[in-house]
Amino acid sequence: MISTTRFAPSPTGRLHVGNIRTALHNWMLAQKSGGQFILRIDDTDAARSKEEYVDAIREDLAWLGITADREERQSERLDRYEAAFNALRDAGRIYRAYETQQELELKRKVLLGRGLPPIYDRGALDLTDADRAAKEAEGVQPHWRFKLDHGEPIQWEDGVRGTAKFDPAQLSDPVIRRADGSWLYMLPSTVDDVDMGVTQVLRGEDHVSNTAVQIQMFTAMDAAPPSFAHEALLVGKEGKLSKRLGSLGCDAFRERGIEPEAIIALLSRLGTSKPVEPIADRQVLLDTFDLSTFGRAPAKFDDADLERINTAIVHAMPFDAVKDRLPEGIDEAGWHAVQPNISTVGEVGEWWRLVTGPIEQPEFSEEDRAYLTEAAQTLTWSDDPWNALTSALKDKTGRKGKGLFLPLRQALTGMNHGPDMGELLPLIGENEARVRLARAAG
Ligand code: GLU
Repeated sequence: MISTTRFAPSPTGRLHVGNIRTALHNWMLAQKSGGQFILRIDDTDAARSKEEYVDAIREDLAWLGITADREERQSERLDRYEAAFNALRDAGRIYRAYETQQELELKRKVLLGRGLPPIYDRGALDLTDADRAAKEAEGVQPHWRFKLDHGEPIQWEDGVRGTAKFDPAQLSDPVIRRADGSWLYMLPSTVDDVDMGVTQVLRGEDHVSNTAVQIQMFTAMDAAPPSFAHEALLVGKEGKLSKRLGSLGCDAFRERGIEPEAIIALLSRLGTSKPVEPIADRQVLLDTFDLSTFGRAPAKFDDADLERINTAIVHAMPFDAVKDRLPEGIDEAGWHAVQPNISTVGEVGEWWRLVTGPIEQPEFSEEDRAYLTEAAQTLTWSDDPWNALTSALKDKTGRKGKGLFLPLRQALTGMNHGPDMGELLPLIGENEARVRLARAAG
């Protein structure tokens, strides 16, 4: 089946790892089926929606390589919501209600106090025309609720959760429009899904009861509901919903040197029965992406996993993929030499300084200085100067292991460890190598 999916963020903040995951999975579903992925900006809340967040959402998705085939904005579709609203109201599926927040809160408390679920009692349906007129004469403007049909259970085959079933009488008729005429999420989203031909809705399990309500809205609008899937929420590694995850986004990842491919590799598989692996090839991730592998338990996000995957992805990155981000002067051989020693691309410079210098050498013992004098005299230049130098020195001095290699590494790089010397020495170059050995020898 060719899927049309959508990712529908409200531009009231930056994307966080939880909604990045939702975006990714919807993009993957569409890609995998050769369908369309829609970015829908849910900006009906004019007071809280900000243009800077719309831009940030676009930038973050672009950085992640999650490209939308289409972009839609709810604020440009208000006439569509109005039309749907009028039709549903005329069909008797929308009614006015006048309760204040305090009154509703009190009703909730009374029900909870009696051990009952806090379902709206439909008090507004008992109002007469005269009651309503009196309310409005008092200056109370109505808000609007969608009237659920209590006739049949609501049922769907959820792509992750299996058969889902709700008794509509156990749900409150949702408020869909405020007294000031502004929209709540429920109806506009359904209208959009119909108008935009969305065939598959994948979102977090916090939306499960919304789905039950929206299925009735689809039916009330004579539209076939899309297929639904609700994935388990993302939690911190300690297993709880974490505040930190709610604010962890692309800017923080970028600052830490996390590659988009590491995030994609992790989030594609987290919470599924497939192993989380450092797979940089999206096609492989797409080929193995399957909702039926998603578990019902919360998916645990662990920074240590992300870092492990990131390091492995950096270690396998081809020069071409990274060359525009490297310090001036690093060619393929340079990248290859330092690549195994870094865990983020940003660390390249620290190792590259060993090639460009200046370096700071340690104090050498008299014995090592003599050895380094010998090394300076022995050094010859070839395709493989390190191997030639160390083999010759081994024969000449009888040194081996650490005693053979460490003073040379220290003299040539100023460090006790680092990239493979066989790769580094040709990059340092003959002249500079001679200068460094001579200086170390005193
Ligand atoms: N704007 C809604 C949200 O961010 C969209 C939910 C949906 O996917 O339908 O929760």
